[in-house]
Amino acid sequence: MILMNEVYKTYANGVTALNGINIDIEQGEFVYIVGPSGAGKSTFVKLIFREEKPTNGNVIVNNMDLSDIKEKRVPYLRRNVGVVYQDFKLLSKLTVYENIAFALEVIEESPRNIRQRVMEVLEVVGLADKTKAFPDELSGGEQQRISIARAIVNNPEIVIADEPTGNLDPDTSWGIMETFEEINSKGTTIIMATHSKEIVNTMKKRVIAIEDGVIVRDEHRGEYGYEI
Ligand code: ADP
Ligand code: ADP
Repeated sequence: MILMNEVYKTYANGVTALNGINIDIEQGEFVYIVGPSGAGKSTFVKLIFREEKPTNGNVIVNNMDLSDIKEKRVPYLRRNVGVVYQDFKLLSKLTVYENIAFALEVIEESPRNIRQRVMEVLEVVGLADKTKAFPDELSGGEQQRISIARAIVNNPEIVIADEPTGNLDPDTSWGIMETFEEINSKGTTIIMATHSKEIVNTMKKRVIAIEDGVIVRDEHRGEYGYEI
């Protein structure tokens, strides 16, 4: 479902972030991306939702070669790939309900379907009572749950998370991980870049380690493998 073939990424400033990546991720997998700061983890996940384009090589997601899809096809890709960020990226002037409904309004769903789907995903993340709240009235963990709800509202086949627990305390982080587990158990592929040794070592999923833009380790039921 996600294939990378000899992928290289050099940014405009000359920094090479990825240096020959080959990977094959199947539907339904839960994959941790680990490695030191600056190793290329963010760049790797950004390629999957075409936030960045490779300088060389092919990135294939759901049989679409992202290197040559037309700009107007990008929204279709994005519907199939939900994204969760470390800093949530919720719109502060919109309510919880509006933040989530937004992704459905742009694809012109009917108001009735939007209402039903927004409430469904709020149930999944356990915040159905917060529809009218604004993001800054919620705790960090609650805001992250809302951003997860937004990421899954289109029923994507893939959810990408870049350090989703990076701003959260350990207890809150475990709650967030349970939510990701639940989403994965329904068949959604999850790719998560993380610095949390505890989470990776406890969950025993596939671990891909990147260092200096190269995959140095790819293990099923893997370990974090770094001290911090
Ligand atoms: P990680 O997520 O593992 O910290 P990144 O993929 O963010 O690594 O960064 C890999 C390298 O690419 C780093 O040297 C970083 O400074 C550089 N980099 C990341 N984004 C950009 C960018 N937009 N422009 C230039 N260099 C970048
Ligand atoms: P995160 O680590 O939370 O994913 P970013 O993706 O914003 O953060 O940045 C990752 C790394 O890439 C950081 O080291 C940052 O300094 C570097 N970086 C991001 N954008 C640029 C840029 N435009 N030019 C140079 N380096 C960048």
